[in-house]
Amino acid sequence: MVASLYGAAQESKSIWVYLEVDRGGLTGVSKELITKGRQICDQLGWQLSGLLLGHHLQPFAAEGFAHGIDTLWLADDPRLENFTIEAYTTVAYDALMEVKPSVLLMGATPNSRDLAGRLAVRLRTGLNADCTDLYLDPETERLVCEVSGFGGGVLAFIEMAEHRPQMATVRPGVFTPGEVDRDRVGVIIEIEVNLDPEILTTNLVERSVGEQVDLTSVPVLVTGGRGVDGDFKMLAQLAELLGGEIGATRPPVDEGHIERERQIGQTGVVCSPKVAICCGISGAFHFVVGIEKADVVVAINSDPEALIFDYADYCIVGDVHQIVPALIEALTVEREVILG
Ligand SMILES: Cc1cc2nc3c(=O)[nH]c(=O)nc-3n(C[C@H](O)[C@H](O)[C@H](O)COP(=O)(O)OP(=O)(O)OC[C@H]3O[C@@H](n4cnc5c(N)ncnc54)[C@H](O)[C@@H]3O)c2cc1C
Repeated sequence: MVASLYGAAQESKSIWVYLEVDRGGLTGVSKELITKGRQICDQLGWQLSGLLLGHHLQPFAAEGFAHGIDTLWLADDPRLENFTIEAYTTVAYDALMEVKPSVLLMGATPNSRDLAGRLAVRLRTGLNADCTDLYLDPETERLVCEVSGFGGGVLAFIEMAEHRPQMATVRPGVFTPGEVDRDRVGVIIEIEVNLDPEILTTNLVERSVGEQVDLTSVPVLVTGGRGVDGDFKMLAQLAELLGGEIGATRPPVDEGHIERERQIGQTGVVCSPKVAICCGISGAFHFVVGIEKADVVVAINSDPEALIFDYADYCIVGDVHQIVPALIEALTVEREVILG
């Protein structure tokens, strides 16, 4: 097996979290990973660092400290204003090789997934992708990553004996962000950005940001499966009345009935709403991992044997095209009564 560029004997006892900024703040998954990293560091007396790359990002340092990091490694440079894989890999690699942290945690977002793969190859270390949980074994000081395989039929616990950093990506919503302490302070260390212009082969022509909705933290999630026959307008009406958002299983996404950002499940978003209403969904494992953290699950399915009913607190057997309009009507009447 190829040795990594540094091993367990050279590591510094610290956890690094790769931070991303979006819509004027740290992303939800960045905060979730800081919370997880903080718990582990407190247990072992380790340092928790954030790695932040971009331009004009100094204001986000306070947010990182408030959520729990001790040190922010900051690369602030106009050439990092937009994510380009060559520049980000080079700068992150240089910073990691300077400190040699034991662990690097990253969100399983499109850019971070891209970066994680490149970094793992360059550092010659392993990458546990899409972990569903992780902890650090205090005896061995190894990161143990829980990863599901074979369509969810197998749960594997993976650890690295010698390769460093121990890298893992985790999808948004898997962990819960912790308490915020606005009085917490930390140290900012500026990273020197050395970029050879020859390696910067990506040219940003246009930046287009699609409709963005953070489904990880909505209070009510109305999800539709193949059984709704693409009628997401009906589900959107119900979601609006309940102050929620709509999501979907993979088939309606693949068929183009709804945007991919709204796919729930193993290869989509993991949510923890107060209420998840599942309409015309069979209850495949790949979908269920996306809603199993909901406080209450309501399922509507015409098949009384549907697997989704095993996960539901309220089971409605019937045609979704009759039940959802009836719910909409009842909620509309109730709202009119309340509003007078
Ligand atoms: C590696 C991998 C990753 C995957 N990742 C995901 C993922 O992230 N998210 C995801 O969702 N899937 C994912 N899938 C696909 C997943 O395995 C299932 O195929 C998918 O979730 C099924 O979607 P569904 O329940 O909408 O469709 P179906 O399984 O076809 O179920 C449709 C349901 O609708 C009911 N129904 C039909 N008509 C009506 C009606 N009129 N009223 C009420 N009920 C009705 C039926 O009884 C049935 O139970 C993944 C698969 C693989 C292999």
